[in-house]
Amino acid sequence: MAMKLALVGIGKIAVDQHVPALKASSDWDLVATVSRHGTVEGVEAFDDFHKMLAARPDVETVSLCLPPVPRFDYAKAAIEAGRHVMLEKPPGATVSECHALEALARKAGVSIYATWHSREAEGVAAAKAWLKDKALKSLTVTWKEDVRRWHPGQAWIWQAGGLGVFDPGINALSIVTEILPVPIHLKAATLSFPSNCETPIAADLTFFHPQGADVTAVFDFRQEGEQTWSIDVETDEGTLSLTDGGANLFINGERQAALEGGLTLSGEYPRLYAKMAALVKARAIHMDISPMAHVADAFLLGKRVTVEPFYE
Ligand code: NAP
Repeated sequence: MAMKLALVGIGKIAVDQHVPALKASSDWDLVATVSRHGTVEGVEAFDDFHKMLAARPDVETVSLCLPPVPRFDYAKAAIEAGRHVMLEKPPGATVSECHALEALARKAGVSIYATWHSREAEGVAAAKAWLKDKALKSLTVTWKEDVRRWHPGQAWIWQAGGLGVFDPGINALSIVTEILPVPIHLKAATLSFPSNCETPIAADLTFFHPQGADVTAVFDFRQEGEQTWSIDVETDEGTLSLTDGGANLFINGERQAALEGGLTLSGEYPRLYAKMAALVKARAIHMDISPMAHVADAFLLGKRVTVEPFYE
């Protein structure tokens, strides 16, 4: 029987991805939404989370699609009400609050899932399998997009805790931490902050790799024209490229996997909800926050450069 779920924060990603994935899933029954402005046709709508928790004790699972800063209070309230919790990326505004949520969930005996949708992109699993036994020479992340096109009106992204360019950049880091067989850590970073924003518009990162490979990432929100979400890898046995956010995989220049229609994100959210269903059935927890640790390290170690103001 389908499990009842409430979706919280009916904004861009909820409408674009969560609602279609839930509607197509036999695991889930979307029975409630919580949002101050958004609703989903045919689904009971609440504008207050606590009212929903009180009115719908039959809702076993809540899926939180809010921006990162308000997310902790909602997750804590849900866990304390005995509900399973699915978290959009990043799983919180700080590393410590993610640890706190995991501890709360363990104590309450409920499932919690820190989702990383980009890890579910079409080419990622095959890239991981191919890289498993190769010696890495270099890995270069290029994640350049037009913030005006992909994040219109999202003032939160420019406020402390909103991550700025790390909001998409953390997706790249979620893939890198998934496909590399060994852990890496940040060695140096430069973060470019517009003079009128609290979060960076661009970042350059250099990582330490245990076998001495060159691992770097460039994130930029100022990319007009062609958009780039690529990871290029050189190994002792040839090259690998993930393009379009992981949707397409090339090994030694040959396409290995192609997403139907060439659209990024399709397939990612259905896979996330299938994994959440399995976690709930097993009362299990999945809270890998390694992508977030790299972002936190960048804010700790990164040299800060002030650049021209950003106006939408
Ligand atoms: P969004 O559209 O700006 O926000 C989602 C919704 O959250 C808003 O519509 C708003 O709904 C609610 N909200 C905003 N601030 C709030 C606050 N302070 N307290 C309570 N509710 C608040 O953002 P989004 O693009 O959907 O992103 C949400 C999360 O999904 C982010 O963590 C983002 O990284 C992740 N994500 C986004 C994308 C994407 O392509 N946009 C892709 C993957 C993941 P109400 O005003 O109706 O309450």
